Amino acid sequence: MRFSKLRLNGFKSFVDPTELVIADGLTGVVGPNGCGKSNLLEALRWVMGETRAKAMRGGGMEDVIFAGTTSRPARNFAEVSLQIDNSERLAPSGFNDSDILEIVRRITRDVGSAYKSNGKDVRARDVQMLFADASTGAHSPALVRQGQIAELINAKPKARRRILEEAAGISGLYQRRHEAELK
Ligand code: ATP
Ligand code: MG
Repeated sequence: MRFSKLRLNGFKSFVDPTELVIADGLTGVVGPNGCGKSNLLEALRWVMGETRAKAMRGGGMEDVIFAGTTSRPARNFAEVSLQIDNSERLAPSGFNDSDILEIVRRITRDVGSAYKSNGKDVRARDVQMLFADASTGAHSPALVRQGQIAELINAKPKARRRILEEAAGISGLYQRRHEAELK
């Protein structure tokens, strides 16, 4: 599974529809302080099912919605879409019926988040599991936040082990076992 396109609409500073094509190889995002580089990475984490507002640097999840400026009113929703090249058909069953997989997450004020996979409604958990099994996902060590390297160095062994499990792609199994134990 390869990420091929990220679309943002009303997400944080990206008030107008914005499309980022993710080509093969290395993609660099450069720009002055405050231009939205970290917001892009957060959009990627968010569409993969991030549930912690703090990881989005907000007090509540609705803080990801464009909050308005002196010249532009706030928006009522934010939407992020992630297009995945699935031509090698590596996506798990349920998500594996086409060459292009598009996951969309939308949050509406006072309503909350909804997810779609190729236009069909899916649950947050399904999207989280899709990415957890592909050893990427909202908590993936592939996404390195500003300041995270120092956190990793100072982490307690248990926390460090979680990071390694995420990297190994087995955190989806742990989540399922945890849910099975609750039943
Ligand atoms: P740096 O180089 O300092 O790390 P950056 O390019 O990573 O900067 P970001 O942190 O991604 O910048 O973007 C911060 C900008 O996003 C700020 O100007 C902030 O006001 C804006 N922003 C964040 N949330 C919202 C929101 N909900 N509505 C409007 N603007 C927002
Ligand atoms: Mg930044």
